[in-house]
Amino acid sequence: MKTKKALVISTGGTIEMSQGPAGFDMPSQPSEGPVEPGGLPSWLEVEHRRLFSLPSPSMTPSRMAGLCRLLADEERSGRWDGMVVTHGTDTLEESAFLADISLEGSCPVVFTAAMRSPSELGVDGPRNLRGALLTSVSDGFHNFGTVVVLNDEIHSAARVTKTYTSNVSAFASPGYGPLGFVDDDRVIFARAPLGRVHLPPGTLTLDERVGLVRTAAGLGAREVRCCVAGGDRAVVVEAFGRGNVPPDVADAIEEAVASGVTVAVTSRCFMGRVLGVYGYPGGGADLERRGAFLAGDLPGHKVRLFLMACLGAGLDGAASAALLGSPA
Ligand code: ASP
Repeated sequence: MKTKKALVISTGGTIEMSQGPAGFDMPSQPSEGPVEPGGLPSWLEVEHRRLFSLPSPSMTPSRMAGLCRLLADEERSGRWDGMVVTHGTDTLEESAFLADISLEGSCPVVFTAAMRSPSELGVDGPRNLRGALLTSVSDGFHNFGTVVVLNDEIHSAARVTKTYTSNVSAFASPGYGPLGFVDDDRVIFARAPLGRVHLPPGTLTLDERVGLVRTAAGLGAREVRCCVAGGDRAVVVEAFGRGNVPPDVADAIEEAVASGVTVAVTSRCFMGRVLGVYGYPGGGADLERRGAFLAGDLPGHKVRLFLMACLGAGLDGAASAALLGSPA
C-alpha cells in the first residue's frame, strides 16, 4: 500500500485536558503533543503541529481565521493527503464551518475532538483521532468540504452541531444526518453534501463587527439597537420558527437597516429554512420588506462568521445574501 501523509494540527480541548485541582484544564506544558491515536495502519505517516493550547471557548474568530489561514497554506503546499484539526467540542462547529467556507478543498480537512479527557473512563479521544485520520486520507473523500468526525460518524461542517453537553454521541446534523461512518478500519461515505456555501477566493480576513441576537418572547429590540449603537456593521437575528420576531424587534431591524447595517434572519429552530411566509408585523415577509434578508437553513452562529468573512472580503449585504442563495 502506498504511504500516505497526514498533518495533525492541535488547538486544545478536552481531548488533551487533564484533571487539575480546580477541574479539567489544559496541561501546563502545551508542547506535550497530541493525543496518541489508537492503532494506525503502517502506511500512514502522521506529522504533528501545535497551533494553540486552549479550551475552545477561548477560540476567538481571529484565532479561527488564523487556523484557517494555516490550513490554507498547508493545503497549497501539496504535502499532505489529509489534514486533521483537534479542537475543543464547544466551538468546534464554528472553526470547522469557517474552514469549510474558506478553503479551496484540494486537501481533505477533518476536525475531531473528545467529550472525555484522557484521564476518564471510556476515553473517546484516541478513537476519534484515529477515525479522523483514516477519513482524511480515505480514497472515498471527494470534494466534500471540511468534515467533522466523532463517535465513528462523519458530518459536514456546515450541518453539524453539538447537541449534548456530556454524551460521547454529542455531534449530529439535525435534518440531514451524517455523511458517512468509520467502520473499524473502513471509511464509508453514504452521501455527498450539496448546496455548500463558499466565499470568493482570496485570503480570509474577518471584520468582526457582526452582532448576534437571539429572540425570546418580548425580547430582542433593545439587543438589536445595542449592536447598532456598539458599531456593528451587520446583525444576525435568531428569530422564531420560519423567521418571525416580535413587532418591536421588527422596528429595531428597520432602524438598523436604515442606518446601513446588514440584518440577516435565522431561526431558533435547529431544522428547516427561514422563509417569508408571514406578512404580519414582525413576520418573515414583513422583515424582508423592511430590508432584512432571510439566511436559509444555517444557524445564527455560523451566519455570523459567514458575514464577518463577507465584510472582511469587502462584500456588502446584498452580495453576502446572494452568496447564501438568499437574495436581499
Ligand atoms: N469545554 C471543552 C472545550 O470545548 C469541551 C471539549 O473539548 O469537549 O474546550
